[in-house]
Amino acid sequence: MKIGKWLSVALTVFGMVMAIPGQGHEASPANGTDVAGKAAWVTGERIAANEAQNWMSHGRGYDEKRYSPLVQIDVNNIAQLKLAWFQDLPTKRGQEATPIVVDGMMFTTSAWSHVQAFDAASGRPLWSFDPKVPGVNGIKACCDVVNRGVAVWKGKVFVGTIDGRLIALDAKSGKVLWSKVTVDQSKPYTITGAPRVIKGKVLIGNGGAEMGVRGYLSAYDADKGTLIWRFYTTPNPKGKPDGAVSDKIIAKLVAPTWFDGEWKNSGGGGTVWDSLAYDPELDLLYVGVDNGSPWNYMVRSGGKGDNLFLSSILALRPDTGEYVWHYQTTPGDEWDYAATQSIILADMEIGGQKRKVLMQVPKNGFFYVIDRKTGELLSAKPIVETTWAKSIDIASGRPNIEPDARYSVNGKPFFGLPSPYGAHSWHSMAFDPALGLAFIPAQDISFPFVAESKYKSRGLTMNLGTDLSGTAELPDEQKEKVATRSRLKGAIIAWDPVTQKQAWRVDQAGPTNGGLLATAGGLVFQGNGAGEFVAFRATNGERLWSFPAQTGIIAAPVSYSIDGRQYISIVVGWGGGYALVMGEGVNRSRVLTFTLDGKAELPAVETVKANQPTLPEPILPVATAMSTGKQVYSRYCFACHGLNAVSGGITPDLRRSPIVYNQSTFNAVVRKGALADRGMVSFASEITLEETEAVRAYLIERARESYAQPPGK
Ligand code: CA
Repeated sequence: MKIGKWLSVALTVFGMVMAIPGQGHEASPANGTDVAGKAAWVTGERIAANEAQNWMSHGRGYDEKRYSPLVQIDVNNIAQLKLAWFQDLPTKRGQEATPIVVDGMMFTTSAWSHVQAFDAASGRPLWSFDPKVPGVNGIKACCDVVNRGVAVWKGKVFVGTIDGRLIALDAKSGKVLWSKVTVDQSKPYTITGAPRVIKGKVLIGNGGAEMGVRGYLSAYDADKGTLIWRFYTTPNPKGKPDGAVSDKIIAKLVAPTWFDGEWKNSGGGGTVWDSLAYDPELDLLYVGVDNGSPWNYMVRSGGKGDNLFLSSILALRPDTGEYVWHYQTTPGDEWDYAATQSIILADMEIGGQKRKVLMQVPKNGFFYVIDRKTGELLSAKPIVETTWAKSIDIASGRPNIEPDARYSVNGKPFFGLPSPYGAHSWHSMAFDPALGLAFIPAQDISFPFVAESKYKSRGLTMNLGTDLSGTAELPDEQKEKVATRSRLKGAIIAWDPVTQKQAWRVDQAGPTNGGLLATAGGLVFQGNGAGEFVAFRATNGERLWSFPAQTGIIAAPVSYSIDGRQYISIVVGWGGGYALVMGEGVNRSRVLTFTLDGKAELPAVETVKANQPTLPEPILPVATAMSTGKQVYSRYCFACHGLNAVSGGITPDLRRSPIVYNQSTFNAVVRKGALADRGMVSFASEITLEETEAVRAYLIERARESYAQPPGK
């Protein structure tokens, strides 16, 4: 390891910069990477110039196309693509980051909001940063303690943390330059998304709509860290102005679309947790907005009103946050149909007219093409089967919602497509402007939407007003399997936005397909839940190359070049919302970087023989375990430990955990917070001792059912 010099510099500069764990591996020496002078000097002009060798913003350009113009690696030589270097990451949870690469330096993040800097050619670690997020904040994250990456601007690296801080680091040393708390930390806000920087303003939103918060986007001065503006996406529950730039539009347009309901306690949701795009020519910032809080429309807003700006795309002025236009994808949402998915900007000819468009496939399953100057809907077609609405009325821009889909208003369960996992979630979409094709990591998962009979806001869990466990009124185990597991498909869909037609589709083994990268070499790259990193032919989806990554992949790859050599790099590591609840897999968190004729090799995987558990004895009557125990488990535990207590491989499988077999140890963990530093907080405020014992009985019952089955079944 040749990190001695860098490490000693870093350690003397700032105490929180940690030593790199001794697991780094170099494949080749740093080949003249220049990190002297103005390191990581990203500017708006440079991002707009589309420099082929760099990846300077989250979606590569402000247009978020995730299309690299590099051509050295192409459809003809892809077989020679080999591992050049890899580095192990310190946190073994879901890895969702897109690395930023500028002038030979790579900056990326890992779970729990850690930041790493590498020499992008050799993989040599330059520095790492641990923001020391207290473990108790893990419970606020609906979908794993993930982070989707940093922003880089004029020598500074910006990261948002799970506990809601926005931190500016010196790109050369990793030293903290400033740090701001951007949320009310007493509330269940988190930051998982990557910041973007536009004209010296760092834009950052937050998550938490599932738990119960009010969404907003903030702009901070990149140099000083002062708050410049804030835009709220839902009305102030107290009916008062916020003293924010959104006040005017909220009074005029937004507040009249909300009616009496739980939003006045929850804040209404509408968090801005992922997608942002920018058109420098129009000077418009585009913002993807999340679903409502709680999901249940009847509970949230009396089953009335559009509830702006939930599930909407907003166009704002980046200097001031001033509202310009909005388009709402799902009025009165109650299916978790967030519009926080990739927003991609492109110019194309539609109906004989050159149009500046914005494209999005939100969770609701439609491919939207919108005039990005005016917000006018140009076209919308479903990319997968959608049962909540079969079409969108183009003139009004509104979906033709199926009456059956309104489960909270009707008081009747609705078997919906897409599910709350979405036809497309945060997994990045890419667009090839030469082919005119969008590539979407799509999901085909059905879901029984069932309104909670009596809504009550609870701490330390999601507050949806919707029974997410899918078990209410569906006691038959078989029915549950039909509803959820039988329709678990994923696919890469190549879509022509002009004709609104599918060009090709590649089905995946499961729904767990990662984010996408398209390159001018005629390739589409993607990692998947089965642990493969794959390259496809962009014109027809033909599978051309794959690499066994030894772990499930959810993040999106990037491409860059140094000294004339093209690299493909991806952060791997199984986890995220779906994996925790429904997935099966192992986590080996790493950065993997490839080049033609690379010489590195991953260490062999050690096969660990699973212990054959002994058949445990029941501690309570089966009926108690399967009613109270299952109910409490499904409310508080399943989002991290898995549906039916089947672990996704990221958190312990409780059916096989020794803790479950000892009453006092189990109580110490569940009610006394013995493992709070790992994110397993005390649930004493929510779960009684008796209920805790019922959960333990349920887990033992599940262990009995699963006895002699292989892990993960
Ligand atoms: Ca959501």
